[in-house]
Amino acid sequence: MQSKRLFVISGCSGVGKGTVINEFMRRNSGDFILSVSCTTRNPRPNEIDGVNYFFISKDEFEKNIKEDKFLEYAQFAENYYGTKKKYVRQKMEEGYNVILEIDTQGALQVKDKMSDAVLIFIAPPSVEELEHRLRGRHTEDESTIQKRLAQVKIELERSLKYDYTVINDSVERAVEEIENIVRNNVTK
Ligand code: 5GP
Repeated sequence: MQSKRLFVISGCSGVGKGTVINEFMRRNSGDFILSVSCTTRNPRPNEIDGVNYFFISKDEFEKNIKEDKFLEYAQFAENYYGTKKKYVRQKMEEGYNVILEIDTQGALQVKDKMSDAVLIFIAPPSVEELEHRLRGRHTEDESTIQKRLAQVKIELERSLKYDYTVINDSVERAVEEIENIVRNNVTK
């Protein structure tokens, strides 16, 4: 009988984390589940409540913080994001290994509370390469790119506390490496 584990995956902005996680989930949907977080930000046009996020009000979020309902939470751009303890517990009881796709602040809170959680950081091959990718999108102006790069440096610093770092030099290879990490940790 395999023990159910909690995996936390984070990555720098622009690193292609979403693509890697989606491909991992496509290949491993049987006994893994991607956790649905709560957020106070507004849904984007194609997002569905309960599927992409549980969209809740700021008052409700803060009430849940006071009542210690979150395994972890973080605040960016004026919005809260958090993972409910109850949600994770329920999914594990249903027999799933749970994957949290959360930022580095939240990941380190999880590690403090659940020392057997496995933290995986998806990193770019180099900061220069990431800068090239961010510029290649042509969606952000120079000051936004500079802010993002400063944030990347903070995240790379925090990633030193992670259990594993996976370089996203190719989606296929990164997914295989995550599969190996996960396999080694669920059968321990
Ligand atoms: P977005 O608004 O683009 O959906 O997400 C913004 C950021 O929030 C991403 O970096 C994502 O990883 C992070 N995030 C999403 N859910 C959670 C959560 O439950 N907790 C934390 N700490 N970060 C989250």
